[in-house]
Amino acid sequence: MPSDIEIARAATLKPIAEVAAKVGIPDEALHNYGKHIAKIDHGFIASLADKPQGKLVLVTAISPTPAGEGKTTTTVGLGDALNRIGKKAVICIREPSLGPCFGMKGGAAGGGKAQVVPMEQINLHFTGDFHAITSAHSLAAALIDNHVYWANELNIDVRRIHWRRVVDMNDRALRAITQSLGGVANGFPREDGFDITVASEVMAVFCLAKDLADLEERLGKIVIAESRDRKPVTLKDVKATGAMTVLLKDALQPNIVQTLEGNPALIHGGPFANIAHGCNSVIATQTGLKLGDYVVTEAGFGADLGAEKFIDIKCRQTGLAPSAVVIVATVRALKMHGGVNKKELGTENIGALEKGFENLARHVTNMRNFGLPVVVGVNHFFQDTDAEHARLKELCRDQLQVEAITCKHWADGGAGAEELANAVVKLAEGEQKPLNFVYELESKLSDKVKTIATKLYGASDVNIESKAATKLAGFEKDGYGNLPVCMAKTQYSFSTDPALIGAPSGHVIAVRDVRLSAGAGFVVVICGEIMTMPGLPKVPAADSIRLDEKGQIDGLF
Ligand code: ADP
Ligand code: MG
Repeated sequence: MPSDIEIARAATLKPIAEVAAKVGIPDEALHNYGKHIAKIDHGFIASLADKPQGKLVLVTAISPTPAGEGKTTTTVGLGDALNRIGKKAVICIREPSLGPCFGMKGGAAGGGKAQVVPMEQINLHFTGDFHAITSAHSLAAALIDNHVYWANELNIDVRRIHWRRVVDMNDRALRAITQSLGGVANGFPREDGFDITVASEVMAVFCLAKDLADLEERLGKIVIAESRDRKPVTLKDVKATGAMTVLLKDALQPNIVQTLEGNPALIHGGPFANIAHGCNSVIATQTGLKLGDYVVTEAGFGADLGAEKFIDIKCRQTGLAPSAVVIVATVRALKMHGGVNKKELGTENIGALEKGFENLARHVTNMRNFGLPVVVGVNHFFQDTDAEHARLKELCRDQLQVEAITCKHWADGGAGAEELANAVVKLAEGEQKPLNFVYELESKLSDKVKTIATKLYGASDVNIESKAATKLAGFEKDGYGNLPVCMAKTQYSFSTDPALIGAPSGHVIAVRDVRLSAGAGFVVVICGEIMTMPGLPKVPAADSIRLDEKGQIDGLF
């Protein structure tokens, strides 16, 4: 099988206007970025308000392992398959961050025959949305220091400025810096640091905003510092929001591209899945629902993190609700959850599969507790054996009464996921229950964390460190007690220990720190170490990326 980039490059793309026309987007509603990428005009999106909505399908997964699961690949394959069986389906996924492209090899545009194209542009600068977000964030940073420099009328405590700076690159050297050095003309020296752009609260707000007005209002609520008398200072207080919204105006229009099979894909926004909610913009999802019978979308990490936040944060804030959930699993990953190491995944091992099945089982039960109909999509890898797939289906049927379907979209494109598409349609058109959130917004912040930990993670308790508990009490006093919580914990385990794979229970979830994201509308709960500025590995992918004699990119994916 050729590499992802070879497949993508060999594809014949349709003009984007033709792809857009399939779902009723007229040419005049497109802002073209070359022949194969466009943004969809705000005005056209507003004109869709009264149209009926299609059905939303959420693709999530078991706890990730180094074996790879394939959520994006399955999202794309399922979208193509739905189109093949006669449904008008639109795919909605996140925009890739530039930083990881040069670190570990691997894109975020699907894989094999289930990809979105043009993949090089999508993975690199695309339509400049992340540059716009970096600029808007940087403008706010400059305005804050400028405010302090002139008269500091808001009495900002320079030791308590929470707004950091951002750049879309993995650059560990910038994690902690000192700034404003060099004398009076350069301001008041202070410590600061950089996060990667996708970790900016501007990104989270961008992805949750309903429209430009909502974007500006949410930006205004972002708490950037405390005053000397410990009052929260917001971006509105430093008068940053009007100009930031201007910088973000075009970026907020969703991007449309195509799958390898010529179906529409909206790729828009890309918040971190730990300190933010980890899914594409609300605007893109809602636009997709107006345009298609079906929208297939992906939530980052495993279902304990991505799907939980998708439902408890994104769906709750917007009224969206999935009609069906696909939990992606692979035989390889389940064998890893069952104790097999990565080198031995090529050998049939039913025993390990049976043991690792407990991870999938917990995720299926959790999703059903939300009131959602579930199907398991088993992403087929060529080393898998038929006996392993048969046993997995049997386990799903006998122990969980859930259907598991082997999918071959990576090798065969949409044709390989038709059976999954039929199962999804059956669920989505079947009986629907109302969404059952894990916790109520009215309960105390610490109780919300405990409810998630005990109901979803199988934990026996939570242990909130005193510094975090004090901050939580402060948030409640300042009127933020009714916000949902955004859990930031390792994606590899139901516990806070990445090595504890499978389905651990009885563990204690330690909460180290909490952060307020008032603009996004959640409180981030940090369990364990969370990196908001990744570093590059010893041998970064960048070492072997170059332009070849023909001017084509070599070494990227
Ligand atoms: P996720 O969204 O869960 O992070 P992706 O869909 O991006 O995962 O897939 C991760 C990588 O695994 C991609 O490079 C993709 O090409 C590869 N991959 C996915 N499914 C398969 C498969 N069935 N066989 C081989 N490689 C696959
Ligand atoms: Mg993905």
